[in-house]
Amino acid sequence: MAKIKKTVQDELLDAQKEIILQKEENKRLASELLIAHKKLTFQDTEKDKRAAELGVANIELAFQNKEKAKKEITHKKLKAFSHSVKLTSQYARSLIEATLDPWVTLDLKGVITDVNEAMVKATDKVRENLVGTKFTTYFVEVKKAANVHREIFSKGFILNYPLTIIDGVLTDVLLSGSVYKDEDGKVIGAVVVARDVTDLKKIEKELIEAKVFAELATGIAQVAKSKAETARRIAEDAVKAKQQFLSNMSHEIRTPMNAIIGFTKVVLKTELSAKQKEYLTAIKMSGDSLIVLINDILDLAKVDAGKMTFEQVPFKMALSISAMIHLFETKIQEKNLVLIKEYDTNIPEILVGDPVRLHQIILNLVSNAVKFTSKGKITVSARLLDEDGEKATVQFAVSDTGIGIPESKIDKIFENFQQASSGTSRLYGGTGLGLAIVKQLVEPQGGSINVKSKIDEGSTFSFILSFQRTKEETPVETELMELDTDIRNIKVLVVEDIALNQLLMKTLLDDFGFERDIVSNGRIAIEKLKDKEYDIVLMDLQMPEMNGFEATDYIRNKLNSKIPIIALTADVTTVDLEKCKAVGMNDYIAKPVDERLLYSKIITLVKKPVDAKITGNKGIGSFQSNKVKCIDLAYLIHRTKSNPKLMMEMISLYLEQTPPLVVTMKQSLLDKDWDSLYGAVHKMIPSFSIMGINIDFENMAKKVQEYASTQQQADGIPDLVRQLENICAQACKELEIEFDMIKNTPI
Ligand code: ADP
Repeated sequence: MAKIKKTVQDELLDAQKEIILQKEENKRLASELLIAHKKLTFQDTEKDKRAAELGVANIELAFQNKEKAKKEITHKKLKAFSHSVKLTSQYARSLIEATLDPWVTLDLKGVITDVNEAMVKATDKVRENLVGTKFTTYFVEVKKAANVHREIFSKGFILNYPLTIIDGVLTDVLLSGSVYKDEDGKVIGAVVVARDVTDLKKIEKELIEAKVFAELATGIAQVAKSKAETARRIAEDAVKAKQQFLSNMSHEIRTPMNAIIGFTKVVLKTELSAKQKEYLTAIKMSGDSLIVLINDILDLAKVDAGKMTFEQVPFKMALSISAMIHLFETKIQEKNLVLIKEYDTNIPEILVGDPVRLHQIILNLVSNAVKFTSKGKITVSARLLDEDGEKATVQFAVSDTGIGIPESKIDKIFENFQQASSGTSRLYGGTGLGLAIVKQLVEPQGGSINVKSKIDEGSTFSFILSFQRTKEETPVETELMELDTDIRNIKVLVVEDIALNQLLMKTLLDDFGFERDIVSNGRIAIEKLKDKEYDIVLMDLQMPEMNGFEATDYIRNKLNSKIPIIALTADVTTVDLEKCKAVGMNDYIAKPVDERLLYSKIITLVKKPVDAKITGNKGIGSFQSNKVKCIDLAYLIHRTKSNPKLMMEMISLYLEQTPPLVVTMKQSLLDKDWDSLYGAVHKMIPSFSIMGINIDFENMAKKVQEYASTQQQADGIPDLVRQLENICAQACKELEIEFDMIKNTPI
């Protein structure tokens, strides 16, 4: 045990010792741990320190990196910038080099610091030799070049300054330029560009030349224009002169013709042998055709001068046409032709137009038809084509069964002086003017003319004209009167300068049994009118000292006289009827004066109120003179087929019957024997249409007949009976002549 104990003790001791050791070890370890701890703490601090240092270093690094990146960007930018600067400068340079305009830069002293290729070329120098030399050296006008230099630096720029570069060809240039400055705005030099204006100058020169040429051409054109104007004026004057000449000539020819025809008529009325009568009739006929020719030429002159005018007056177309056709009756009978009239009764009775011109047209056509037809018939027709409230369109046609016109000539015949064949004039006479005038009378009135013809079968000339309709009445026409020897106390003043005409007037008025004074111009006429009372003045128009217009004007406005004045005109186609009317003339009569027309006009005006107006369709010359006939044998000729024997029988029957019927009519009216009056008039009525007496008289007879049966409305019956008596008497006279003519015409 003790051993054990000892062992244990030892062990314990050992253990104690061990523990002490352990303790000491622990202590050492603790102190070591402390030291280590201290160390660790120190190291931690160090570590923190280090870590802090590392953070700073990191920040520094990041900053450094950023700076580096920045620097890199800047560097790149710088590089790009310098690249672009380089590009720009290259670009600018190439532009400068590429431009065709010479270009220099100057320093303040005017020394060239840079040039482009164009400048090198322009001056024909080496580039290096140009730089550093004086700018002014290269221009013809050195002073002017120095001005450029001065001006550019004083003003800061110059624009289009003209100079000439000294080169092989002395190039004209316009200099423009401006200064350039450094960063501080200090002027350090100037850029000058020279524009080569050789081409511009050339163009300018050409333009100036062109302008000069244009001015010259304008001048030439103006001269040409004024020449053309002069030529036109001359031509117009020539036309006027021609018109005037023709008018004067016609007057000069008409005046003696007037005397020839007038005196022939006077002599024809005297005792003559058969031969003398024949010769005188030939003279009169030649005179008449000369007057027609003069009228034709005058009409054409009027057409040429654009002076053809058309009247617009109301007229009765049916009357107008039948009166005109009367003209040809004798001629037609002489040639043993049949005249047929076809008048459309639908044509309004009164129309507005130019009856004189219508006469002229139909007259020309019928005259040709008669001339070129030796057997068969001539038909004159008027047909209503169209009608509305305002106007009526009428187609007129003149057909014949004559020689016809070759087709090849149809277009020609309407031209002046054109006949269908060269032999026409020799065989048939004529001048080839008629149809030309007809065309000029139809077309300007808006009408058209047409011809159809077949050789040896005949021709039809037709024309269409439109007329205004009217409600107006036609002016009263001068009725042709028989010479009444009871009317003697009429005092006439004749104003006429031509001795022959004076003599003719004297003869006519003496025949009428009128008192007359004859003076040779308007001035003397006025003096006469102041001294003496007259009933009427016959006034020539063209007279020396004071013409007819002036004299009439004086009589109306200074003498305040309303005395009737009839114009005597030689030139009815050109006479200014408006002028006659305007100065206050009452009527006019064409020379050669138709004595019956003159007589009727004088009687009408002296009896009538003086303010009667001139009317367009009062009788003019030959048209009116033919209205003397109250009968128209066309119907009889037609019915009897121109059989002279039958015609004579009919006429003699009328001549036998009518006078006793007229006596009965008059007497039964006096006796108020109505049955007898009715019977007489009733028998009379059919003869009016057979003898072609105007329908008005037939209507009058019908009115008397009606009165006789009813005995109502006696107004004007005695007057109607008197008129019927007159017309029957006249018809009998005319029919006696016709009868003799037919009798004496060889079959
Ligand atoms: P003129 O009859 O004076 O010769 P126009 O001008 O009236 O002149 O006529 C011209 C021509 O036309 C005539 O010469 C004639 O050859 C022809 N002509 C006119 N009308 C007829 C007709 N009805 N028949 C045949 N030929 C005609």
